[in-house]
Amino acid sequence: MKRERLPQTGCAWEELESRMHAFARNDVDWRHGRNAFHVWYGGDDLFDVQRRAYTMFMQENGGGAGKTFPSLKIMEDAVIDYGAELLRGDDATGHITSGGSESIFVALKAARDWARKHLRGIREPELVVPYSAHPTFNRAGQYLGIRIVRVPVGEDFRADVDAMERAISPATIGLVGSAVCFPYGVIDPIAELGALAQARGLWLHVDACVSGYSAPFGRALGYDTPEFDFSVPGVASISADLHKYGFCAKGTSTILYRNFSLAAYQPFSFADWPLGRFENPNVASTRPGGSIAAAWAVMNYLGRAGYLRLNERLLRLRDRYIEDIGAIDGLAVNGRPHSLIVSWRVTEPERIDAEAIVGFMRQKGWFLGPMVDPPGMLIGLSVPHEAAREDLLADLAWATDEARQGRRPSADALQSAY
Ligand SMILES: *Cc1c(COP(=O)(O)O)cnc(C)c1O
Repeated sequence: MKRERLPQTGCAWEELESRMHAFARNDVDWRHGRNAFHVWYGGDDLFDVQRRAYTMFMQENGGGAGKTFPSLKIMEDAVIDYGAELLRGDDATGHITSGGSESIFVALKAARDWARKHLRGIREPELVVPYSAHPTFNRAGQYLGIRIVRVPVGEDFRADVDAMERAISPATIGLVGSAVCFPYGVIDPIAELGALAQARGLWLHVDACVSGYSAPFGRALGYDTPEFDFSVPGVASISADLHKYGFCAKGTSTILYRNFSLAAYQPFSFADWPLGRFENPNVASTRPGGSIAAAWAVMNYLGRAGYLRLNERLLRLRDRYIEDIGAIDGLAVNGRPHSLIVSWRVTEPERIDAEAIVGFMRQKGWFLGPMVDPPGMLIGLSVPHEAAREDLLADLAWATDEARQGRRPSADALQSAY
């Protein structure tokens, strides 16, 4: 096997830079909206604010936020306050984490430890989640010893609250709803889930990773946005990513709890080692100061007005995508998207192979998120998808037609899509 060797001598930056540009040659062209997700781009000015703030605090360590770097604590506290305000939690408190997955991990850890205290006698705790919830619930469940019970969603692609109620067992410690769920882009009936959680004395976690920093602005703009935040009684915790529709740098999410007494179940504390007491709410010890600084800078750069402007622009774009995709013979949008994720299915899966459509799109340079249930694909819209719209839809209509005629994309294209 040929392996890379660490060079004996160093290399000048200019040479490295050009080699790195060469590595990126086959990356999906997100700058021109060829991506379905992975990059959530708010525009060049925002990117510049992110980059400057990030590099300004790139050496500082969020692990020392409270003591060595008061700067980071000031900024993290402010960001958490902005999150609590947007998600309408008067007494809400929480932390910046490295991403949605870490936010979900620590929330489940808190729920588990809360249940140990308040729901005594449960040896193998269970969490009831909709089928459409993110896989990280199972990943965290596996790490934390919580069994995840997935329940099919309704015809409208939203959580089926009656079915979730039936799935509650004596070992259930909590429920989950998404706002929005990643596959279908719809907000689950959080108000009903909150009432159920309250009636049964369970923890309700709302996974607002993708839209937690966008849906509040959609609501303010008058778009249909079912209630999902702390204004709903029974919601105990909310995960909301800044590095998606908060338009902040990667490596930034938030976990918020309704109040301090629930948040108190999250931190880890330990003293039996040479440096004495070690306390940390996060999974990581070292945390990039840059991502905290970039979040503070972006949120202050945009302000409420900036977020409203961006969301208005993107929600209008969403409605055009919904209309245009629905007009392609053989495709139908799943449910009624509540935020900026739009997913669609093939209407006759036995005649039109969704995989072939995804493959043909890949051949043309588009990466559309492939979906298997129902067979179709999805896109999380951000600014570059504005300029890409006409090309994307023309190619999608072409690809659907190719698939309908039974043609097959190249094996390479299929392999790089699935
Ligand atoms: C993205 C996402 C996650 C995971 O977040 P990461 O930041 O990728 O770790 C969890 N839930 C939902 C709904 C998401 O969209």
